[in-house]
Amino acid sequence: MCVPGCMEKISKKLGRRQFLGSMIAASAYAAAGCTQNKAIELASASSDKAGIKQRTQTTFTEVVDLTHTLSTDFPNFFGKPMFKLKSNTTLKKDHFNTNYIEVFEHVGTHIDAPIHFSADGRTVDEIPVSDLVLPLHIIDIKLKADKDHDAEVTVEDIMEYESKHGQIKEASCVAMNSGWDKRATSNDFRNLDSKKVMHFPGFSLDASKFLAEKRNAYSIASDTLSLDRGNSKDFATHYHWLPSGRFGIECLANLDQLPAVGATIVVGAPKFKGGTGGPSRIIALK
Ligand SMILES: [Zn+2]
Repeated sequence: MCVPGCMEKISKKLGRRQFLGSMIAASAYAAAGCTQNKAIELASASSDKAGIKQRTQTTFTEVVDLTHTLSTDFPNFFGKPMFKLKSNTTLKKDHFNTNYIEVFEHVGTHIDAPIHFSADGRTVDEIPVSDLVLPLHIIDIKLKADKDHDAEVTVEDIMEYESKHGQIKEASCVAMNSGWDKRATSNDFRNLDSKKVMHFPGFSLDASKFLAEKRNAYSIASDTLSLDRGNSKDFATHYHWLPSGRFGIECLANLDQLPAVGATIVVGAPKFKGGTGGPSRIIALK
C-alpha cells in the first residue's frame, strides 16, 4: 500500500517510464522514505492513479455544493463563536468593500489535515492536489442514526454497502450520510444532553481501520461535527485515521443529492502554511 502523498514524492523523483519500473520503484520507495517491502504494490497503485485521472476527465452533468454557508452562528464543536467577520472598508467611505475575518480552522464545512492528530503529519498546505479530487462513496446510515444518535458507520455497514454498490475503490473518499446536515441551523446539530454531552453519529474505529488497511481510502468524511461520534471521549477514529497520513472532512451538506457511488468529490482545501485544516469549499461532480 502506498499511503496518500507517497506517490507524489516518488513520481517527483522519477520520470514516468522509470516510475513504472518495479525495480527502480523499490529504490524510490526507500529514497522517498516509504518502506521498501511495499514496492510490489506500487504498480497497482500507479495504475489506479491513472484510473483516477481518467475518472476525473469524464464528463459530468451537475455540480453539487457539499458546503454549508459559514456564518457567525454556525454551530461548532466548542459551542462558542469561532468565526468573526467585521467590515474593514466600505464602498461608500473607501470606494470598495472588504471585511476582516477571524476564523478557527475547524469550523463549518472543513478539512482535517493529518497533523491535526499527529506530531509529524502533513499540514493542510502539504496535501497534494492529486489527493483532493477523489471518487466518492456515500454510506447512508440515516435510518439507524434516526433511532440512535450515537450511531456509527461500522464494518458491517461497509459490507452491506459493497454488496449493493460494489467494492470501495482505492484512493477514494468515503462519506457518512447520517442526515445530520438538516440540523445544521439549530442546536440539534450539537444535540446536547442534560449533562452537556454531544450526541451525533461518526465512524467507528474498526471502520476507520478497514477503510485504511483493506481499501486504502484517502479520506473519510462526515456530515456531523466530527469523524468520531459526538459522545466519544478518546477520539479513537481521529487518532487512527489522521496519523496514517490521511485527511478527514467534517460538516458536509447535501449528500442526499448524490448517488451512493459514481460521483467525484473536489476538496477546495485552504493552502495556509502550517495549517491543521480549514474551512473548505467542497463540491461534487455527478
Ligand atoms: Zn476538524
